[in-house]
Amino acid sequence: MRDQTIVVLGGGIGGLLVANRLRHLLPRRHRVIVVERNDTHAFAASFLGLMVGQRTAAAISRPVATLLRPGIELVVGAASRIDPAGRVVEVGGRPLAFDYLVVAAGAELAFDTIPGLSAAHTFYTLEGADHLHQALRSFAGGKIAVVVASLPYKCPGAPPEGAMLIASFMRQRGLAENTEVHLFTPEPQPMPVAGPVLGEAVAQMLADRGVAYRPQHKLTAVDPGERRLAFEGRDPVPYDLLVVIPPHRGSSVLRDAGLANPGGWVDVEPQTLATRTPGVFAIGDATAIPIPGRWKPDVPLMLPKAGVFAHAHAEVVARNIAAEIGGARPSAAFCGDGFCMLEAGEDLAGFAYGDFFAKPAPEVHLRRMGRTWHLGKVLFERWWLAPFGVRREALRLGLTWGGKAMGIPVDL
Ligand SMILES: Cc1cc2nc3c(=O)[nH]c(=O)nc-3n(C[C@H](O)[C@H](O)[C@H](O)COP(=O)(O)OP(=O)(O)OC[C@H]3O[C@@H](n4cnc5c(N)ncnc54)[C@H](O)[C@@H]3O)c2cc1C
Repeated sequence: MRDQTIVVLGGGIGGLLVANRLRHLLPRRHRVIVVERNDTHAFAASFLGLMVGQRTAAAISRPVATLLRPGIELVVGAASRIDPAGRVVEVGGRPLAFDYLVVAAGAELAFDTIPGLSAAHTFYTLEGADHLHQALRSFAGGKIAVVVASLPYKCPGAPPEGAMLIASFMRQRGLAENTEVHLFTPEPQPMPVAGPVLGEAVAQMLADRGVAYRPQHKLTAVDPGERRLAFEGRDPVPYDLLVVIPPHRGSSVLRDAGLANPGGWVDVEPQTLATRTPGVFAIGDATAIPIPGRWKPDVPLMLPKAGVFAHAHAEVVARNIAAEIGGARPSAAFCGDGFCMLEAGEDLAGFAYGDFFAKPAPEVHLRRMGRTWHLGKVLFERWWLAPFGVRREALRLGLTWGGKAMGIPVDL
């Protein structure tokens, strides 16, 4: 086979992993190119630590180039057009031809879709989490509303984690008595994709950590002047500090290219992450993957948008592209397994894990809260941000070994 060029669109969690894996698996004569609009990568799972002052913005950010294996070409710029049939991606007016394209463009945050929302705080961006930390430090007490604005959103665990960490931070500041933390969401229970038993367990975790859980609240508008929230079919709710998980939407470049469905997400074959266009794959948050079960009679469950899935997708796509280029039959398949550590504050975390492809509905379990899960998350962050070298390899071995000892198949 002639030399091949693989373009990876997006250098976030999935994009970095798929590019690094491909570089490891493919002979150097094949090119691996990452197109990423930001030259710095910030590790999103640590935005929560930044929000409560346990991290700094610099500590959880790295130049993208340092997170790529040698031999990968990095193009810093926004892809403005994709021609899947013509096999070209355009970046800054320059065409980049590809043989394979892996779309790992994630999700965009759409503050503009709900009136008044842009005045709110968020821990869903690096800058937002940094500003929110300043606001929490100077907050004198009152009602903090953490609001999931709409579905889908990335990381089903992050809103409960964020609310519990905010409550814990206010306890540390000695302001628990005159602070209320409320978590509003349109969903019927926490993490509905994981079923009623896990939802009940997370609801109990929230109650134990001083968070009032308010399900079935669909946000329609924010009045920042009056500090009031409007929810569909409900009386207005006052707040003193507003923290939102903003609406998410797929990248407009994918819609324009005809790769996205009407909802803005890319439909893929669930096991191989292949799109309808041969040689074009999509992974991570950019995808829409229906899974068994429904959370309303007319609404199918979707695979959550989470780094753990972007990671597993990247592994499958890299192995299959490398196999095909090497003349072998692609045989890797995404099995639907996933897990997440749920930070609860005071260095404690819960651990949810399960099979999201199980029939008739996902089977997800929650392990008892402990410091081990929190430590696992800290070590993962260290591994993720480490440059290629001895330290990164030692962290990889430690995490893999630790995971096996706890019965978790960690594949880094
Ligand atoms: C606060 C928070 C906590 C989280 N905690 C966890 C957790 O504990 N566990 C977990 O599994 N997940 C967690 N997540 C979710 C996780 O971060 C995402 O699911 C994951 O990053 C998805 O990876 P991705 O590669 O699909 O997208 P991303 O990591 O978002 O990467 C997409 C990349 O594409 C780039 N891009 C987009 N469009 C273009 C374009 N046109 N041209 C060039 N570049 C482009 C973007 O700049 C971005 O770097 C958390 C998320 C948040 C916000």
